[in-house]
Amino acid sequence: MNELVSKLLYITRADIGEVHLKKTKINVQELINEIIEETKLMETGKIICSSSNEICYIEADISNVKELIRIFIDNAIKYTEKNGKIDIYSRKNNGNVYINIKDNGIGISKEEQENIFDRFYRVDKSRNKETGGVGLGLAIAKSISNVNGAEIKLESELGRGSSFILVFKE
Ligand code: ATP
Ligand code: MG
Repeated sequence: MNELVSKLLYITRADIGEVHLKKTKINVQELINEIIEETKLMETGKIICSSSNEICYIEADISNVKELIRIFIDNAIKYTEKNGKIDIYSRKNNGNVYINIKDNGIGISKEEQENIFDRFYRVDKSRNKETGGVGLGLAIAKSISNVNGAEIKLESELGRGSSFILVFKE
């Protein structure tokens, strides 16, 4: 219950513009490596890797960016079968920096892709699987990325896997 309350409080604060950002220059490659090491310690039973990391920097609140990536990794772990693979990598193009969290899990159908960023929304199948969770992770991710000037793109195919892509200005 506590976690639910703090998640809701965060979204509400972000809604009314009451989040204090400490923007710094972030080395994306270093940040991804750090998060990968942390995730490996959790012994998730999944393969966690980084297929490529271009040297790139973004201006954002580092604890916010960590939280964002963790939300996507948390989902990638939950919605991937045993021995699933999670690839976290970055690249830059045309003044944008892309941070990609890619899994080969259950995937999300085209129809559901519009809904999953809504508060408390969970795809039926994941509800049945008793994965735990209330459906706030992606709603929070949307708030956090908004206040940091980032965008979230989603590429997913049912049964094949998903890529959640954070797009920052370089
Ligand atoms: P919470 O994050 O609050 O613990 P949750 O994981 O169910 O709960 P969200 O993170 O907001 O909530 O995700 C919403 C729904 O989107 C999930 O219930 C799941 O159905 C779907 N989803 C999210 N990420 C993935 C993914 N990587 N693969 C497949 N489905 C996903
Ligand atoms: Mg989640």
